[in-house]
Amino acid sequence: MIFEQLVKESPLAMYTCDASGRVTFFNKAAAILWGREPELLKEYWCGSWKIYYPDGRPMDLDSCPMALTLKQGKPHAGEEIVIQQSDGAFRSLLVYPSPVFDENNVLLGAYNTLVDITDKKSSDEKHEILSAIVESSDDAILSKGLDGVIRSWNVGAQKIFGYTEEEMIGKHISVIIPPRLISEEEVIISNIKAGNKIDHFHTVRVHKDGHEIEISLTVSPIKDAFGNIMGASKVARDISELKRAERQAYQFAKRQTLLNSIGTAISEKLDVKEILQRVTDATTEITGAAFGAFFYNTYDESGESFMLFTLSGAPREAFEKFGMPRNTAIFHPTFSGESIVRLDDVREDPRYGKNSPHYGMPAGHLAVVSYLAVPVISTSGDVIGGLFFGHPEVGVFKAEHEEILASVASQAAVALDNSKLFEEVKALSEKKDEFIALASHELKTPLTSLKGYLQMLQKEKGSKMAEFFVDKSLKQLERLGALIGDLLDVSKVEAGQLQFNFEFFDLHKIVKDIIETFHYNSTSHLISFSGFQEKLMVWGDQQRIEQVIINLLNNAIKYSPQANEVFVVLEKKEDQAVIKVQDKGIGLSKQQQKGIFKRFFRAEGVAHIAGLGLGLYISKEIIDRHEGSFSVKSEIGVGSEFGFSIPIKNVEG
Ligand code: ADP
Repeated sequence: MIFEQLVKESPLAMYTCDASGRVTFFNKAAAILWGREPELLKEYWCGSWKIYYPDGRPMDLDSCPMALTLKQGKPHAGEEIVIQQSDGAFRSLLVYPSPVFDENNVLLGAYNTLVDITDKKSSDEKHEILSAIVESSDDAILSKGLDGVIRSWNVGAQKIFGYTEEEMIGKHISVIIPPRLISEEEVIISNIKAGNKIDHFHTVRVHKDGHEIEISLTVSPIKDAFGNIMGASKVARDISELKRAERQAYQFAKRQTLLNSIGTAISEKLDVKEILQRVTDATTEITGAAFGAFFYNTYDESGESFMLFTLSGAPREAFEKFGMPRNTAIFHPTFSGESIVRLDDVREDPRYGKNSPHYGMPAGHLAVVSYLAVPVISTSGDVIGGLFFGHPEVGVFKAEHEEILASVASQAAVALDNSKLFEEVKALSEKKDEFIALASHELKTPLTSLKGYLQMLQKEKGSKMAEFFVDKSLKQLERLGALIGDLLDVSKVEAGQLQFNFEFFDLHKIVKDIIETFHYNSTSHLISFSGFQEKLMVWGDQQRIEQVIINLLNNAIKYSPQANEVFVVLEKKEDQAVIKVQDKGIGLSKQQQKGIFKRFFRAEGVAHIAGLGLGLYISKEIIDRHEGSFSVKSEIGVGSEFGFSIPIKNVEG
């Protein structure tokens, strides 16, 4: 009885059948497998099942273990089959059919026990799949104890870090951590102990051969069946390539931005200095050079000479103290426009170091090992100059830099061509030389006079003559002061540092005072005043406005040597105060009028009249800074009218 109970309640499916296979007994577990209770002695053991081999092939009912047991009269214990139940579900079973005989050895039927192994199988399969994933993964997957000792190490870890499983199991994880980052491990372990996961932590580890690898690390705690943290699993992905690509993308974007900035500089028609400075700065950055420079190809009596024009990454003195480069063998391909020169180590080039006076790089010169020089050639074929780059290390410049520079150089050349700025620079440099000669002459004249007067004075102590020479000396000193003042102002304008002190002042009074001083000093010309006769408050720098008026009056007197009268007119026009200075002098042609506000400009034929060609340039800057404007009317042989207007600002406003 007790056995019957045991069989009925057993979790293992059990049934018996007669010799023809009809069910004679079944327990609860068997009914569950069938999906219903079969009718005894009517239904066959196989019910509505479809049966398969474990590999999924359909199994003929006659070949299944129970059919064979009945047919052959011998047990087929422990074979595996897969059944498909009436609801479509598959289950894996181990079957144990055994025949039953009577005392005469006649087959009565068989009994069968079915062990459902579906769940175990799927967990085994899962395990196998997971191991396969771990093994086939390109990521390094490893585990370690809380002591940091490595417990498992997959093929991915071997690929990334270079160590085999045998080499690493039992070793401490610090083997692959760079010493400077060793404290990271403490942080990781303390997080793991606290049950925290670390996600996608970007860091660096060391390969067996010593090179560093950038990795993204995910670390999770491993718990035992009771939830205690036993160690950590780590997944490390090699992101060196990704990082390299990121850096490349960043470099590319930066390079594009720089190239765009060159494009903008060129298209915005900035002046030549600005274009070339931008080009020099951007190309120095793109090539990774320590310094870059643009040299103009200029010609003088002694032949070619190269003028340093723009410089990036180094102070001018670094170059200027060694003099400008000359047409040496190494520079020749650049200044002749022959080709780009790119050298990994300039010192090894046969053309290097053959020329006097330095024979190579003079001591104290910027160290140049990597060398790159690109000619800048105009559309007409003239070599405008060259872009030069240097770096103290070997092999910094690459072929790709040549391409970029060639295109930048041709863009820059087109811009220079278009604006004809190249010619202007040449002219400016010639003007500068002229100016220096003129300035030294102009400064010397009053000095010579002064010296003469003072020598006379030495002899004539206390006499009337002394008074006369002191007077003369002071006049010359004033002239010298004015000249030096102009020179200082020009350098300030150039540096954008001309200072202004704005205040309200009465322009009418200023004009009258200046005229009075001129009456007192000038014996040659009478200065007449007309126009606005009242107080006229303006907002401006009183001294600077005085400077402009004095300059115009001086010019009117200087450039009308045949005349004896100069006219000053003050007008109030709406919100503008206008001052005009008229003379009946030599006048200026239309062409000359175009140049008068330029630095160093002097009309032809005035060399005998003292002047540096700076007064109007400075005056124009002053009036511009007052938001005013200049006007010029002039005719050769008739006379000139120079006028300017400045806004009258409301005293209260
Ligand atoms: P400077 O008088 O010192 O040469 P300016 O800048 O004041 O310098 O003037 C520039 C040039 O403009 C002068 O050299 C002269 O050729 C011309 N110029 C200026 N004022 C007059 C004028 N009133 N009449 C004729 N030419 C003038």
